[in-house]
Amino acid sequence: MTLTENFRQETLDRLGINSTEQGAYGGKWFNPHGPIYTAHSPIDGEAISKIRLCSREDYEKIVSATRKAFEEWQEIPAPKRGTVIKALGDKLVKSKEDLGRLVTLEIGKTINEGNGEIQEMIDIAYFAMGLSRQLYGLTIASERPNHKLLEQWSPVGIVGVITAFNFPSAVWSWNSMIAAACGDAVLWKPSTKAALVAIGVMKLLTETLETSGAPPIFSLVCGSGNEMGSLISQDKRIPLVSFTGSTSTGRVISKSVAERFGKSILELGGNNAAIVTDKCDMEVALKGVAFGSLATAGQRCTSTRRVIVHDSIYSEFVSRLKVIFEKARIGNPIDPETLVGPLIDAEAVEKFLKAIETARSQGGKVLCGGVRANVNGEKGGNYVVPCLMEATPDMAITNQETFGPLLYVFRYKTLEEAIRIHNSVPQGLSSSIFTTDLREEELFISHKGSDCGIVNVNTSTAGAEIGGAFGGEKETGGGRESGSDAWKNYMRRHTVTINYGKDLPLAQGVRFDV
Ligand code: NAD
Repeated sequence: MTLTENFRQETLDRLGINSTEQGAYGGKWFNPHGPIYTAHSPIDGEAISKIRLCSREDYEKIVSATRKAFEEWQEIPAPKRGTVIKALGDKLVKSKEDLGRLVTLEIGKTINEGNGEIQEMIDIAYFAMGLSRQLYGLTIASERPNHKLLEQWSPVGIVGVITAFNFPSAVWSWNSMIAAACGDAVLWKPSTKAALVAIGVMKLLTETLETSGAPPIFSLVCGSGNEMGSLISQDKRIPLVSFTGSTSTGRVISKSVAERFGKSILELGGNNAAIVTDKCDMEVALKGVAFGSLATAGQRCTSTRRVIVHDSIYSEFVSRLKVIFEKARIGNPIDPETLVGPLIDAEAVEKFLKAIETARSQGGKVLCGGVRANVNGEKGGNYVVPCLMEATPDMAITNQETFGPLLYVFRYKTLEEAIRIHNSVPQGLSSSIFTTDLREEELFISHKGSDCGIVNVNTSTAGAEIGGAFGGEKETGGGRESGSDAWKNYMRRHTVTINYGKDLPLAQGVRFDV
């Protein structure tokens, strides 16, 4: 057996994943009736397991079971729900390595990043446990005598969570742990490209829900975006849909959710940039930009796709970054020395190569990489050599997100010009400035600076912590998930007016004498 075959077998054994898995859970695992999908590993292109997907009839059964679980769950006091969520976190701590390996196997993240994905789930579970004691409302001064204004929050019901392949479980947990604390139930439609991770996570966590005596608040429908995804976005029984994926898919989903007056949380594509000023700490800037553009082989929504470098340090910065790009070890993500693993599939490789060809035709100059990579012993894998490209912001392709390790380098003279370039793209997810100058930093984080949802100083565009609210502006969709007060998206707000007096004074001094 090769290293990858061994790894595959051991990972599947540890999680009890079979040669054919059922991609359907609603109160229990059951045999769905949709087509069979075969999951392949991007590491070597080999099949991992087959998955039986859901049919429309299966979907109906699962939604009914999820609704039933919600009815029960919302009656449990929030801090008690929190103790169940803590048990979920504890289970993830015990299973971190097993699930991390599955992320590596199915998505191709390095072992290190696969473990990081599960750590993020653990972090948000414990955050949500604390949150379960902090679901607070407000008391607001009333303009009327003997009146009280209150804000009170209730669960929304079923939250539909549709996720992208690249954060196959962390994004689900950002939504689900918070939604669970809020008293909601969650229906998950994962990317088919990451369905095994979803099945692995659900196997562990539904067991924990059961042993904790909680209702089965997490459900799973595996299936295509066009079928299962569309059913969720059109389903009036699902008042909130949290969608993570490309801007083009988000555009379709947001319309169908809005058409039925549902709410959506949209976490869409990014085109993130870092500004490197002449006052930067060059070592920090090089590491930050390298991590941002190379981690997860450039397949993060927050990956650094553009770096805007001050004219006076341009040559030194770019030549040193080129050395880092050329040295970054591309290879099998199981190998702990690997920094850049494979892309998700052959189509992603084609898109990456096509983008480079287009960028060249628009005037871009390749400084290194931009071709397929041969990784010893992994002939069927989807490996590419990261590309550093000199470009100008007027090249149309630099306005688009290419989901791979392709970094455009631009040159600037004044910080105002750099910020203009920075904000000129349609997306608005994450941003960075590398500077040790207080004035430059303050300008960048002010209203005259970055127009993104996430603004970083002397750290990478990628790698957010769960404690803050995560999301972006413009074509990134405007959603906010995870920490801070993002929980408010998962609840209904009631403004309550209580009159405890003996008269009926009306607001705005209106008189209505009967
Ligand atoms: P994708 O848009 O192809 O798919 C995302 C999900 O949508 C999948 O589950 C897919 O099955 C489903 N889907 C497809 N068509 C659908 C339809 N018509 N109705 C409902 N659902 C449908 O995205 P991807 O390739 O899996 O992921 C990469 C993209 O996701 C990138 O653009 C990346 O920037 C973005 N992303 C954004 C964030 C964020 O937080 N902003 C996080 C991760 C990924």
